[in-house]
Amino acid sequence: MTFDSLSPDDLVSHERQLSNEFEQLKATGLQLDLTRGKPSPEQLSLSDGLDATFDGQYVVDGGTDVRNYGGLFGIREARRLGGELLGVHEDLVIAGGNASLTLMYQYLSNALFYGPLGPGTAWRDEGNPLRFICVVPGYDRHFTITESLGFEMVNVRMQDTGPDMDAIERHVREDPMIKGIWCVPKYQNPTGYTFSEDVVNRFAELGKIAGPHFRIMWDNAYVVHTLFGQGDPLANLMDACQKAGTADSVVILGSTSKITRAGSGIAFLACSSTNLSHFKQGLSVQTIGPDKVNQLRHVRFLRDGQGIEAHMQRHAEIVRPKFEAVLEHLVAGLEGIATWTRPNGGYFISVELPRGTAATVVQLSGEAGVKLTPAGSTFPYGKDPDDSNIRLAPTYPTLEEIHQAMPVFLTATKLAFARQRLEHS
Ligand code: PLP
Repeated sequence: MTFDSLSPDDLVSHERQLSNEFEQLKATGLQLDLTRGKPSPEQLSLSDGLDATFDGQYVVDGGTDVRNYGGLFGIREARRLGGELLGVHEDLVIAGGNASLTLMYQYLSNALFYGPLGPGTAWRDEGNPLRFICVVPGYDRHFTITESLGFEMVNVRMQDTGPDMDAIERHVREDPMIKGIWCVPKYQNPTGYTFSEDVVNRFAELGKIAGPHFRIMWDNAYVVHTLFGQGDPLANLMDACQKAGTADSVVILGSTSKITRAGSGIAFLACSSTNLSHFKQGLSVQTIGPDKVNQLRHVRFLRDGQGIEAHMQRHAEIVRPKFEAVLEHLVAGLEGIATWTRPNGGYFISVELPRGTAATVVQLSGEAGVKLTPAGSTFPYGKDPDDSNIRLAPTYPTLEEIHQAMPVFLTATKLAFARQRLEHS
């Protein structure tokens, strides 16, 4: 119901009815948290076999004892695993520590201060302000990294086949101070949409029209996180860039944070050998090498790409019903009032509420004991210009908790909308 058909009197009584429903929900005393996209304990338990993989065997193929120092780019076996995950040759992969966010920060700060291609290429020597394109709605922690490094952020809208490429091409062609772009190409955080082949091919051409040393931060965090059917195909950006002669323009990232354990998996960074050799210098100042013991147990547990795929099917069996439940509630409660994405995978559903209501909905839901991701957090500087986007994260709560939380969200939305209509009537 859009409320359009209601007379002013009917709207008043409808608002009253919704307020009563909302007070009843408040009285149930819920304490639920739908804020962050974390794996549930049940998902984490799928990887408990990680702890039983050593049996005194700590030496890997090349004779490396993983308990000792060394191996800046990680053990060969983990680099191979990362290569399979990200679709890149293992020689181009760094198997790092426990968080791809750290690798992103390290790559960008290295490019800023020391240059992506070494002396004479430092971004900070190009003047001020430097800019970075952010696909919106997007992942808040990406935006925090570029904000903390002093970049101005330029919003470009996500659509159902990828970001608005006309806008991206215009920005990079007209503004050489744009040094890069954040992307989550598969099951994007938060829309869950995947970039089309045409979009990937256009990304491969950006290096030709952008200013010096432009970098695409291709964060493939959800590359194997299919929930429904065959999943979405994603064209290989590194292959496309190699064909286009722009291989230096791409930095590919990923991790096993949402495959095995969040915060104690392996993070990966892949890029051209030229980029890699320059990044190596910065990295070697910061560490002697990553946690190879963790890398080895992951390799033994997941084995290879096929092992990862089988493991992810077990995740999907746990997560799929939760996505279905959220979608069923949205269809039953908000048809005609809001729109939302129906992703084939990933960790999120993105909801577009009536303009100007998202912050109120988050506040009302919080008052009724359902914590939602703060409105605006899917945008740089925490500012959603339309105050309309909400990210729902169905993985962590149980199904029962989802069935308790969603009526609160739906009623809060309808109430916020009814009050807005009353104010403007
Ligand atoms: N990238 C995206 C798009 C994410 O959504 C997340 C976690 O929510 C991360 C990266 C974090 O990855 P990591 O744990 O490897 O730092």
